[in-house]
Amino acid sequence: MRVPFSGANKGFNIWDVEQLKLKKDEIARICCIDEDAEVGWAHWVFFGEGHKQNGYYQCFGDYALIFGVPGSGRPGQGADPENCPFCRVQARDSHVGIVGRRFGTNLIKYTTDVKGIPRKPYSGDIIVWRFGDDKYNRLADIRDTFGDPKYGIRALDLQVKCTQEQYQRFDIDPLRECLWQTDPAFGKAILGEWKEKRQPDLSGLLATPVKKERAEQMVAEAMGVSTPGVAVPATAGADPAQLAKLLDESMPVPAQQPLAPPPVQMPLAPPQQPIQQPIPPAAVPHVDTPVTFIGPTPGPSAPIPTSVAPINPPATAPVVPNIQNFDELLKTK
Ligand SMILES: [Zn+2]
Repeated sequence: MRVPFSGANKGFNIWDVEQLKLKKDEIARICCIDEDAEVGWAHWVFFGEGHKQNGYYQCFGDYALIFGVPGSGRPGQGADPENCPFCRVQARDSHVGIVGRRFGTNLIKYTTDVKGIPRKPYSGDIIVWRFGDDKYNRLADIRDTFGDPKYGIRALDLQVKCTQEQYQRFDIDPLRECLWQTDPAFGKAILGEWKEKRQPDLSGLLATPVKKERAEQMVAEAMGVSTPGVAVPATAGADPAQLAKLLDESMPVPAQQPLAPPPVQMPLAPPQQPIQQPIPPAAVPHVDTPVTFIGPTPGPSAPIPTSVAPINPPATAPVVPNIQNFDELLKTK
């Protein structure tokens, strides 16, 4: 087979997509223009020679079992040791970390100066943002407090200031104006760009999927023991070249490989708090009912957890002009 040299035949790797990354004290102005975030659940695994293959590996457990049924208000069990080799051995400060949620969403990142003041005429880029539960919780609180009744957090611009570069810790605050709304010509242009450039599937950025057999090998390797009842191939203790080959094979994230479990879309609403203690398999109840994660998000009257961080600027609610003309532009399906 031959292919012409054309843009249409370029390869695609989700890791090449621009992500929100800030330097210490850098300020950016963004808008969470997707109506929801993709959620993945994964374990941080210290793995491989020289820990070169450290990373977030997809958990095999059931979402509702681990984190609770979304919207039920009841926490999950924090682990699914029956289905997930990582959950079986997970522990704090261990080589196999405790299962956690990771989120991804598309953003408008406005063009600003270093202090976050937008340049005129307004412009921006469509990029993606990966984050954990702390930022998700903050965004959910902002949405519930300041979000537009109809468009939620999409009708809010946010200021993000990097307080810690290595872990990309941000202060996140809502702003009075939403630029894509206050300048309708710019709004139409940037929403058109968002529709064209947004990544519909961010699951590949959230956790690396591996086959369960490989996960068993990784657990045995990471824990430095042979797991009883688990067939660890002879290569896992054999000569370093073979071992390196085995490890190398576990890293690629082939797009065509089925992901287990499937990605779900998570509305930006108050999350379920997982219980962080692993529990023995016998105590884990089965959950057979399929759960739909897509659904109406709670309105502004939803309870706000007492741990809500104080919202700094502005003291008053943001100005939300009439944005009904954007209905069509905001649809993705
Ligand atoms: Zn797990």
